[in-house]
Amino acid sequence: MSEEKGVEWKAGKNTHENIVYACFGGLSNTGITAAMAAMEVVKELGLQKVAIGCLAGLPTKVDPVYGKTRAAVKVVTVDGCPFECGKKIVEAAGFKIAKSIVLTRDVGMKKKALHEDIITNNTKPLMEYLSKDDIEKAKELIIKAILSP
Ligand code: SF4
Repeated sequence: MSEEKGVEWKAGKNTHENIVYACFGGLSNTGITAAMAAMEVVKELGLQKVAIGCLAGLPTKVDPVYGKTRAAVKVVTVDGCPFECGKKIVEAAGFKIAKSIVLTRDVGMKKKALHEDIITNNTKPLMEYLSKDDIEKAKELIIKAILSP
């Protein structure tokens, strides 16, 4: 993850005001949308306001990931479906979640697994599995969670 120039992480130092953890289930429209929406939020609000946490760094106990998460004012999770993988991993690492967003519940997305098309050799370009509207709605929910008092 890149950081703003001149900002150096130290334990407890608030390099990013808030952290978003997206589940990023790579083989479903919902998981990919979670990641893309989180990236759009960072683009819109800037890295000082919010960064994307490396979800895999929590169970593997990566020090900067813990440090940045501890320093965050708010931790927001974005999960594609009711399995809520991101929320469960963040909670298992001992962090309090300010807002949990689930795209099937909160955006009304229908989960579509890409492996069905891969098995039948019918894969389409990635963006054809996604909806700009869903990404936008998810982005707005994340921004609202971050900016709300
Ligand atoms: S929450 Fe759902 S979409 Fe996200 S990684 Fe877990 S199973 Fe996949």
